[in-house]
Amino acid sequence: MGYSKTIKRRAVEIISERKLTAENNAEKRRQRIFDEIPEAGELEKKISLCALSTARALVKGGDVQSAMEKLKNDSLALQREYELVLNKNGYTVSDLEPYYFCSKCNDSGFLELDNKTVMCDCLKNAMTEAACEELNRSSPLKLSTFEDFSLKYYSMDIDDRYPRSPYEQMSKILSNCKKYAENFSLNSSNILMIGPTGLGKTHLSLAIANEVIKKGYGVIYAPAPKIVSILEKEQFSRDKYSDESMFLDCDLLIIDDLGTEFSTQFSKTAIYNLFNDRLLSGKPVIINTNCKLTELEELYTERFVSRIVGEAKRFDFFGTDVRILKK
Ligand SMILES: [Zn+2]
Repeated sequence: MGYSKTIKRRAVEIISERKLTAENNAEKRRQRIFDEIPEAGELEKKISLCALSTARALVKGGDVQSAMEKLKNDSLALQREYELVLNKNGYTVSDLEPYYFCSKCNDSGFLELDNKTVMCDCLKNAMTEAACEELNRSSPLKLSTFEDFSLKYYSMDIDDRYPRSPYEQMSKILSNCKKYAENFSLNSSNILMIGPTGLGKTHLSLAIANEVIKKGYGVIYAPAPKIVSILEKEQFSRDKYSDESMFLDCDLLIIDDLGTEFSTQFSKTAIYNLFNDRLLSGKPVIINTNCKLTELEELYTERFVSRIVGEAKRFDFFGTDVRILKK
């Protein structure tokens, strides 16, 4: 997958930070343990001295073999004693080693495989993380959580046009969104949030995004106009397909405000292909729209709209614009 240089640099930064943290923590642990058990610290020093003597014996020459043999035995004996002292005090040798985030590559990001250096999965994941971070930078992600979603603005009066009050409907949607976020997996269903503006579609989809990100998934949230303009720019750029592949590869894609993008042949095809490709690879999408289905059919095609409706759980939003009530 092609990523921009900035993304690659950021991913390497993420991995290096992890490595440094693991090693700093190990060093602190080591100091603490040696303060607690000075004997262990002394033994460790002797072991290093032994290694130094081995190197010296090699340089010095003479009866190298017997000298080496003796040093090897000394070193093993010291090692055993060291382990014993640690165990007696409730520690193991591994307590003094760094606890790396990725034990496959010890947070170096690379592995040796059949004499070839290959990228470790943790570095690939860090790139996805960095790419999502980058794309989400300008979205109000942090501001929207389930905790600060209030039902008090939704009326309990039933309007004849709907089967239940906005309050009841929103309680139901809120609980379904929480469940969706809680049980999110790569096989989760798609969601279509439909209804007029100001009823909480963006807020709830961002709340889902926050929870799903916390679980370690790569989530991208973007309004449809932004997606279209990114894809349009990429059409002509040399660093081709980097963000497009992110829209396809991220674990959850949230397309907000579908239908507010400037409608062109390009935008229609781009959005249609994006949705379709994600369906084919079985990756979940959340689509929000202020349009009625008939309006979407006019903007896109009947076939596209019936495909969305057929492939997504539908949450209908109705009631009075909450943003007006809040004022
Ligand atoms: Zn790794």
